[in-house]
Amino acid sequence: MPELPEVETVCRQLEPELEGQRIERLEVFDARWARPARPKKLEAEVSGRTIRGLGRRGKYLLLVLDRDQTLVMHLRMTGNLVLVEGEEKLDPSEGMRLYEGERSTSERHLRARFTLEDGRELWFTDPRRFGEAFLIDDGNLATRFERLGLEPFSDDFTADALGEIAARRTAPLKSFLLNQSGVAGVGNIYADEALFRAQLHPLSPAGSMRSEHHEALHEGIVAALQAGIDGGGASIDDYRDGRGERGSMQNEFLVHTREGEPCPRCDGTVARTVVAGRSTYYCSGCQVRLRRRRRPARKSP
Ligand SMILES: [Zn+2]
Repeated sequence: MPELPEVETVCRQLEPELEGQRIERLEVFDARWARPARPKKLEAEVSGRTIRGLGRRGKYLLLVLDRDQTLVMHLRMTGNLVLVEGEEKLDPSEGMRLYEGERSTSERHLRARFTLEDGRELWFTDPRRFGEAFLIDDGNLATRFERLGLEPFSDDFTADALGEIAARRTAPLKSFLLNQSGVAGVGNIYADEALFRAQLHPLSPAGSMRSEHHEALHEGIVAALQAGIDGGGASIDDYRDGRGERGSMQNEFLVHTREGEPCPRCDGTVARTVVAGRSTYYCSGCQVRLRRRRRPARKSP
């Protein structure tokens, strides 16, 4: 499932292509994508608008439009946003790059299509159909995202801020990171990678961290996400970048999906467990399991 680095990759690739382009037409092929708005209404509202820029908040991709409105999209589990060039459309025998040449497959999974003024198309494909989009006034964006946690690459995200958010939380660190209300944009892949870098066990209670752990986790989160961006995102299954190509981060994982392999740091072996219903990879040799912090014991008589 696309996380911050995957959405950021798509955003950076598409922004120079889309900025200033007029959307001739939006077609919504799946009512679920636009809900609760009616597809025809969303089509009418977005068609004819000019794209001012692209942005990202957590795992949300923002298509900034004219007249102070933004089309917010979430790729959820299997969504992809891909720019399709003219010749690709005209030559079906060449096949799409979207799904290893299976043009019919990507067309079947097409949920929405933007036709741009230069003739190119932006396709939102999504086999599992959890992806979504909604149009919002820019003035309401802050309220819409008020429950979303800190942006990991913002100045607000510091070791101290992380400590404040984590304080008194009893949830395991893995769940704490998956829950978007503390830190935005970290999902299953980068939570494992960040915790490994920080040498913290995924089942440690979030509130049990001390200041040195806040520092380590802060650094681990930023480094793991930056590695993901540098690798063009991770394509474990469906993810493709804005050009329809696979990322390479899956080849650079330190622990994620590496069960049974040697730990890159110690003599241990990468293990797998399930936390919050998600496969979780870690090294029991070098990732410290913190104890829940207790109140100071009463003096014995
Ligand atoms: Zn280890």
